[in-house]
Amino acid sequence: MLVNLNNMVKDAMNQNYIIAGFNVFGYEDARAVIEGAEEKGAPVVLLTHKAARDYMPIEYTASLFKTMAKKARIPVCLQLEHAKDFSLIEKAINLGYTSVMYDGSQLPLEENIENTKKVIQLAHSFDVSVEAEIGSVAYEDIYQDNASIYTSPEDAEKFVNETKVDALAIAIGTVHRQQKQSAQIQYKRLSEIEKVTNTPLVLHGSSGISHEDLNKLSKTNISKVNIGTALRVAFGNALKEEVLDENHLYNRKDLFKSPIQAVKETVIQKLSALGF
Ligand SMILES: [Zn+2]
Repeated sequence: MLVNLNNMVKDAMNQNYIIAGFNVFGYEDARAVIEGAEEKGAPVVLLTHKAARDYMPIEYTASLFKTMAKKARIPVCLQLEHAKDFSLIEKAINLGYTSVMYDGSQLPLEENIENTKKVIQLAHSFDVSVEAEIGSVAYEDIYQDNASIYTSPEDAEKFVNETKVDALAIAIGTVHRQQKQSAQIQYKRLSEIEKVTNTPLVLHGSSGISHEDLNKLSKTNISKVNIGTALRVAFGNALKEEVLDENHLYNRKDLFKSPIQAVKETVIQKLSALGF
């Protein structure tokens, strides 16, 4: 079932679990995510970030993931990630993405607010949900100019009041692309943000969050976490093992069997930690 983000994150906030948004690159990992989510009975978000867009044009990912989402036994949302460009957002909406994340986090607050409002106006007319970001979540390996700036509760309050955004990504200690679960979550900052808004909150870079913290966060207003690196590590390691141990294999359907299984197992572990 193909859905947008709205009911998913609202239910998550009220029922002490967190929706997982998984970054996927193609058929194999998307299939593993959907199968894992079906096994846990968990709604799920398939994310398309810039690296995935560079790998495969969104015309292809949109039609592939949309078809897979419609056939899934659980609600699936398709979200375009970190879009800074209005024409890309328009294109994704036309192609059938049900949610977009507008990233104006590197802009001055007022400009971020104005642009987010424009995106919301367009997206909502197509029943597409919008996530935006204030503060800035840094990257461990690339985009070094994207510095880590923690979200100020005052800015969060102003931002949600003026934009009425559907979900808000905040920076409280996570870092994109962390392979180790070493994020130091700032719970005090989170509770200050929760005091000033009821908008569902989102954390990016959540591969770096320990399972203990994921579980703790499921009782807060954090309603969605984005996970990518953990799946890519699982896929890559399983594939390397397969190639080294079974060097007679050459069919992709054989080679991808254990990586798909490894991704599915990681998805199930993450969903369990998130309250499913
Ligand atoms: Zn992100």
